Amino acid sequence: MPIRLLSPEVSSQIAAGEVVERPASVVKELTENALDAGAKNISISIADAGRTLIEVADDGHGIPADELSLAASRHATSKLVLSDDLFHIQTLGFRGEALASIGSVSHMTITSRVESAKEGARLSVDGGIAGKVETVGAPVGTVVRVENLFYNVPARLKFLKTDVTERRAIDSLITRYALAYPNVRFKVTDGKQLTLQTAGDGDRRAILAALYGVDVAKQMLEVMASEDPSTGSGQVGLALSGFISPVSLTRSNRREITFFINGRWVQEISLNSALLQAYHTLLMVGRYPLTALFLEMAPEDVDVNVHPTKAEVRFRSQDKIFSFVQRSVRKALLAYTPVPSVSPQLWGARSRDEVPHRQAGIDWSMAGDSSNEQQVTSTLPPSSDSSLVTRNSETLLSVPLLRLIGQIGSTYLVSEGPDGLYLIDQHAAHERVLFEKLMAQHENKSIPSQALLTPEVVTLPPQSAKMIGEQLPFLNKFGFEVEEFGTNTFQVRAMPMLFSGGDPASALRALVEDFEEDESPLQAEVEARLAARVCKRLAVKAGQTLTPDEQRSLLNDLEACQSPRTCPHGRPTMIHLSVDMLERQFGRRGAR
Ligand code: ADP
Ligand code: MG
Repeated sequence: MPIRLLSPEVSSQIAAGEVVERPASVVKELTENALDAGAKNISISIADAGRTLIEVADDGHGIPADELSLAASRHATSKLVLSDDLFHIQTLGFRGEALASIGSVSHMTITSRVESAKEGARLSVDGGIAGKVETVGAPVGTVVRVENLFYNVPARLKFLKTDVTERRAIDSLITRYALAYPNVRFKVTDGKQLTLQTAGDGDRRAILAALYGVDVAKQMLEVMASEDPSTGSGQVGLALSGFISPVSLTRSNRREITFFINGRWVQEISLNSALLQAYHTLLMVGRYPLTALFLEMAPEDVDVNVHPTKAEVRFRSQDKIFSFVQRSVRKALLAYTPVPSVSPQLWGARSRDEVPHRQAGIDWSMAGDSSNEQQVTSTLPPSSDSSLVTRNSETLLSVPLLRLIGQIGSTYLVSEGPDGLYLIDQHAAHERVLFEKLMAQHENKSIPSQALLTPEVVTLPPQSAKMIGEQLPFLNKFGFEVEEFGTNTFQVRAMPMLFSGGDPASALRALVEDFEEDESPLQAEVEARLAARVCKRLAVKAGQTLTPDEQRSLLNDLEACQSPRTCPHGRPTMIHLSVDMLERQFGRRGAR
């Protein structure tokens, strides 16, 4: 084929691919434009996970009628004039690409009015072809309506994930911007349903609660640090604010690590590693914190023009920023983190206050994220101590009959077997017991359930509610009776007998906690995982004093398990100190 210049439509579609990858990218660009326009109120409407409709309405300064066509053309921006301006960018946008890109792959309508105009103006762009600007009545501000995204790029459509995944990407984007701009009121509707609303009163913790639930929001630690440009070597003035999770509150992935630089959400590997270094040795392997951190610096100290979606940035003094973030986070963490020791009453205290109903004997607590159990773990000697501690989990599947000696630290059971001493982690052990019982009942298709005296109504953050909605069949199959009960709200009417007295809200949350989107497609495996999660959440916690009867029955139940030596998540339930090892340690036999 001869060389030809691409038609403008084709070249703009190619360029659009860089900026508009999925519905969430459209939401991002339009929201950033609204923020750049100084909006105080931003309303976002979504339908079909953004495939059929994304509309962002703001009360910002608007676009003059005679600039409307230009706004929708490529490389047209009001935010940048000279190439020099690129090095001290104060706005979120500057490339002048978003509206043109979006318009080339959708049916886009922009309606806008500036304060000085009596009427508004409207422009429609269909697959990159702009119509005429019409005069319409409109309030001051801008509404960009994007319909049938990618209708003319079927290949792109094919790459979209499920509605749930696309919708989740949108939600997580909006919630993050809501956090970053607590003085702006965000409102999100899906179809006719209101799914998120923030007050715009500057209260970040309240937004955190809307994002992660009240439980988590209460636990998050505030970070506040700044560095004067005059101190230290460089010119860089830095400020860091926001929230980090305490070491007891973690996730199994990095998805909840959020950084903003100068009001822009970035995915910056160096910042992530500074953060993780701050948590170093405080978290279990494979666990990650939740953060929403906002870094501010002079615009000239950060180059945001290295990536079309501006998600990556380059710093002028990378090392300085790295160490500032690492130090500030570490300091905040240490200020709040008690040195781990076996005094579990402390950890139990908070959750116990909140327990709405408790069974005599076993205290079902609803600590946010199984936090107790994690702190306890960190007090165990690392496994390099294997000369002292023999873990036979691989060699022996079952456990021998054990004689209970008692409970220590309200956390471990001490027992004796024919071959030595067994230390048992009561939480992990109970998790295992519940899990095996639940799965056995499930196999027999008979999970006895028990109606709650008063049905419990649980309201969840929108993202979680959406996911729970999808897990309802699972819940109902596993002996729960849960039904939707209004926006983001569920009513729990019955629970499996096995969990009687457990907290229904915890059970629901357990399902969406750490949900991995690409979890095994095998239904059976998914169910087992979900069941394991519920069991973990409702198992007896470290720090709960058990009566001798409860200790004994836990031990008996554990002995009866098929895999008593690990919890369903693979952590050991017990540590075995063999007779042989004891004798050697005490120099009774072949010393050393
Ligand atoms: P950029 O944001 O990089 O300048 P866009 O294509 O996103 O490029 O927008 C082009 C121009 O349209 C902006 O520079 C701005 O002047 C105008 N504009 C876009 N959206 C809005 C809005 N919501 N309110 C006011 N002006 C807007
Ligand atoms: Mg823009």
